[in-house]
Amino acid sequence: MRAVFIDLQGTLGGDPLGHVGDFQFYPFAIDAIKLLNENNILAIVLTNQSRIAKGDLTLDEYNQKIMNIREELNKQGAYLDEIYCCPHSRDDKCECKKPLIGMAKEAESEFNIDLEKSYVIGDMGMSDMLLASAIDAKGILVLTGVGQGSLNEFRNTWKDAEPAYVADNVLEAVKWIIEDIK
Ligand SMILES: [Mg+2]
Repeated sequence: MRAVFIDLQGTLGGDPLGHVGDFQFYPFAIDAIKLLNENNILAIVLTNQSRIAKGDLTLDEYNQKIMNIREELNKQGAYLDEIYCCPHSRDDKCECKKPLIGMAKEAESEFNIDLEKSYVIGDMGMSDMLLASAIDAKGILVLTGVGQGSLNEFRNTWKDAEPAYVADNVLEAVKWIIEDIK
């Protein structure tokens, strides 16, 4: 199976560094997910939520928000195949906080994913693009969220990775992927 791993905040909507409770989809994001669904490509969200470890977000609040997100997608005829969350902070020394590959590896075994044929879409070079490079997937940086900053003043934080493509937003990214697969 081929998967597109998608970052949540700053990529599908919301504030890249804000509280997930305030998440709202960007207007084009649901079309991007729908396009993946229609092309039988796994749409899997990987999100770092260190606020959980820091006590700034409870697991209940997080789960409630994810339920709202799924309901909204459902209403619009789209769905996410899975949403993986790393609740840890750096101090926890976990293996799942992006750019570490724990969540992608879990998805790989759960969905029988071929990581080398897969893609990562995200706005933060140092987490999303480094993850792409660590799993040998193609990374697509989006210019929403902190994307612009990732390409400019924070480029040194992910200097060892090169995005396969830089897209204005997640919808453009998914369109590019669908052409790339052909
Ligand atoms: Mg982000």
